[in-house]
Parts: sequence; structure tokens; C-alpha cells
Amino acid sequence: QSVPTVTLNNGVAMPQIGFGVFQVPDAEAESIVATAIEAGYRSIDTATLYENEEGTGRGIASSGLAREELFVTTKLWNTDQGYDSALRAFDASLNKLGLDYVDLYLIHWPAPERGAYLDTWRAFERIHSEGRARAIGVSNFQPAHLERLFEASEVTPAVNQIELHPNLQQAPLRESHAKNGIATEAWSPLGQGKGLLDDPALAGIAAKHGVSPAQVALRWSIQLGNVVIPKSATPSRVRENLDVFGFELDEEDMSTIAGLHTGNRVGPDPDTLN
Ligand code: NAD
Repeated sequence: QSVPTVTLNNGVAMPQIGFGVFQVPDAEAESIVATAIEAGYRSIDTATLYENEEGTGRGIASSGLAREELFVTTKLWNTDQGYDSALRAFDASLNKLGLDYVDLYLIHWPAPERGAYLDTWRAFERIHSEGRARAIGVSNFQPAHLERLFEASEVTPAVNQIELHPNLQQAPLRESHAKNGIATEAWSPLGQGKGLLDDPALAGIAAKHGVSPAQVALRWSIQLGNVVIPKSATPSRVRENLDVFGFELDEEDMSTIAGLHTGNRVGPDPDTLN
């Protein structure tokens, strides 16, 4: 069964599930990416920060799939923000990945104190117009950062990749995205596995459908229309996390999960990480 896609605001199709490689050592990235592709993932999410673009690129190459069958995302790190430095960082990422284009290039964090995300975005617009990134987007942008970007730029981000799971449901951002044609991509969709997956409400819904709490968390996000990028280094879980299209959460399940919002982040606060 192939993964459904969402259509981005420039017409590019993005698989609704991708495989994230945060905290995967470069030496292990090749085999875990190959395992994920073998399991059926067609979208891979890496970043310069993860220091595994080379291993990820080797995993992609070893899959033997045609390049156009894969959707590859990488991200610009904060210290590379700025027009010239972003262009250089992009070249370095392509080199490490061993690719001549990426499908999606993201500004990893707004890093507001640096005051450089608008200049960075101009470099992204150039990279996009050159066809070296099929789509460009942002990550961890708050509503205020998006507003500034809209005022100052030509191209609306295709994606905002944000922390999003049942404990952090991001209603205001999802509303802004819907209004402005931005796809919502959920990072740490399993809440990094800590605590969230032990929630008795998720366990109850999981038992009802004969699936795992992780599958319920992913399915909930997918039914909201989000793209999700779960990570696992365990092959059985890599497969389990993709197997979420054979059941459907009903209204009662969805409203039970809506009640799990606490507002607690597992990651940094985008307003203060610089
Ligand atoms: P996640 O929510 O995907 O959780 C991963 C952890 O959950 C695993 O390490 C494992 O402990 C557990 N897990 C995975 N599958 C499971 C299963 N089926 N059953 C039980 N436990 C399971 O967290 P993440 O890795 O932080 O996020 C996923 C991806 O999002 C990353 O790999 C990365 O690509 C991306 N990300 C982006 C940002 C950003 O700033 N843009 C930040 C963090 C992560």
C-alpha cells in the first residue's frame, strides 16, 4: 500500500508520512534509511544539524530507486542564516547528500535574535527558482514570524514543520497554515515516545482498533491533514509507524485525543532558540 500525499501550494506532492533521522549517527544512517525505504517510506527528513546527510545520501543511493520516487528534505542550521551563507550551506548539503536537488529545503528555526530569516528566505527563493529545491519552507516558525515573512516575500512557504503531537496540538498555527495555504508537518509526532505513548486514553483507543498507541498518535495527526515524520531505529517499529492506513479513528476517538493537549513541549521554544 502506498502512502497518500498532500499537495503543496506549488503543486508538488509530498508523502504524508516521512522518516525522520534526528539523532541517527552518520555511520548508522545508511542502513536505517535503507531499511525505511525498503519498508515503504518514500520521504526522508534530515538536517545539517543532524550531521548525517552523508549517511542519509548513501542510504538513498543504495535503495536503487529512481531519484524522482523519493522526497528528500534537509534544513539550514541557524549559524548559516543570511543570504550568502545560506547559499553556501545549501551547496554543502547537496554535496553531502550526493544529490543535485532536494524536494524540500527548510529554515530550521526562525532564530529571531539573529534577525536574519528574511535574508535567508531570499536565498531560499533563489534556490527554488533555480530548481535546486522543488519546494521551500520553514520550521518552528510562530505566527508572528510567518506574518513578517508574508509581508516581506514573494514566495509563501510550502511547509511549516513544527512540534505537534497530542500534548501540543498547535491549533493557532494550524489555523494560520490553513488560511495561508501552508502544509503542516508534525515533528516529534510521537512526543519522542516519552510519556505520551503511556497515556491510558491512547492505550484505550489503541486496544479498540487493535493497533499500538504510536499508531493512534500518528493516525490522529494524519486525520487532521498533517504530514508526520516519526523516527525509530528499530526495524519493527519503522514498519509499524508506516502501517496506519488500515484503520480510522472515529469522532469520539478524535475528541478524546483533542482533550490530551497540555501545551507542554518536548523540544525548545522557537521564540528563544537562537
Ligand atoms: P518521535 O516523536 O518521532 O519519537 C521517536 C521516539 O519514539 C523513538 O526514538 C522511540 O523511542 C519512540 N518510538 C518510535 N516508534 C515507536 C513505536 N512504534 N512504539 C513505541 N515507541 C516508539 O521524535 P523525534 O525523533 O524527535 O521526531 C521525529 C523527526 O522529526 C526527527 O527524526 C526529525 O526528522 C524531526 N524533528 C525536527 C525538528 C525540527 O526542529 N524541525 C525537531 C525534532 C525532530
